[in-house]
Amino acid sequence: MAEIQLRDLWKYYDDVAAVRGINLDIEHNEFIALVGPSGCGKTTTLRMIAGLEDITAGDILVGERIINEVAPKDRDIAMVFQNYALYPHMSVYQNMSFGLRLRKTPKDEIDDRVRAAADILNIGELLDRRPKQLSGGQRQRVAMGRAIVRNPQVFLFDEPLSNLDAKLRVQMRTEIKKIHQRVQTTVVYVTHDQVEAMTLADRIVVMNEGIIEQVGSPEEMYDAPQTLFVAAFIGSPSMNFLPCHVETRDSGLSIRLTENLSFAVPADRVDRYGPCIGKEMLFGIRPEHVTDKRPHTDPTYHDFTSDVIVLEPMGIDTMVFINIGETEITARSRPRAAGQVGQPMDFTIDMAHMHLIDQETDIVL
Ligand code: ATP
Repeated sequence: MAEIQLRDLWKYYDDVAAVRGINLDIEHNEFIALVGPSGCGKTTTLRMIAGLEDITAGDILVGERIINEVAPKDRDIAMVFQNYALYPHMSVYQNMSFGLRLRKTPKDEIDDRVRAAADILNIGELLDRRPKQLSGGQRQRVAMGRAIVRNPQVFLFDEPLSNLDAKLRVQMRTEIKKIHQRVQTTVVYVTHDQVEAMTLADRIVVMNEGIIEQVGSPEEMYDAPQTLFVAAFIGSPSMNFLPCHVETRDSGLSIRLTENLSFAVPADRVDRYGPCIGKEMLFGIRPEHVTDKRPHTDPTYHDFTSDVIVLEPMGIDTMVFINIGETEITARSRPRAAGQVGQPMDFTIDMAHMHLIDQETDIVL
């Protein structure tokens, strides 16, 4: 079993706190993505799990065993790097078998394992080639093959797709997902790309300035972010944020965005948002919940009109930029229903998907 536990894990580089007391339980065979902006500490966390970086404080456990002092080669962990790190003078076969040869694995077994991995990765034809005779995507596969043949308990990936062009990145993303379905192992995958994290992982860990902001399934992170940082980081195009006031309205509450624009708070949130009456808050709504006007009967839907500033056709949808008060927001329209630049357009907002954020704590209520 390869559960990994990070217990109050710290890393200082001189006086820079790169990782600040994180706790995380990773389940056996789970695919975890560590995601966050540059410098948030995700690579440092991965390197500590691999044993390539000393731990300043805390513990790392694999199964029941604390591995803080275990040498990288004895951790039963394989790492796939961004730059592949293939040996240029060796063939694909030699690259893939190198680690096993060092461990004095019998020749027949090496051959079986290399061919099985090559089969999974669809690179059986390339075994005699040198790395320079391969495309970026093929090199990436060889780097993964070298990890697979070791049959490790844990795979660590450090931005493995960032050197590939956009199309290949999407293809390889699907490949990695398929491979994980075939080769069941625990995976920790570092990326700064939230789409990659969303599409690949069972659970996403969003890091920010050395701490974990939130851990959850892609759906949880998207539908129920707990902090402003996660709300803004997950989702593309990103969530809209507008300053607002919470007011009483009849027997319920409403969100006032401007002098002329306020929307009723859904009945099931009135208790939750009651304590915010009169406070300056931040209102969050994803672009897909502000659409071209639709017929509706649900009480959480409301209509409003605004002038179109910019249109961005995406094919499947058109992004419509409008101003609410001083703030520019993005709405998502069916292409044929999108208005014209400079002209008023009717929209429908679904308040069932609103978020209310406390500006002092950045917590989503
Ligand atoms: P990126 O996506 O840019 O790789 P990251 O989230 O992986 O970012 P880390 O590489 O873990 O971030 O770095 C976290 C912090 O630690 C950063 O402030 C970085 O400058 C610092 N840091 C990383 N490695 C070292 C080092 N060897 N010496 C000093 N500071 C370091």
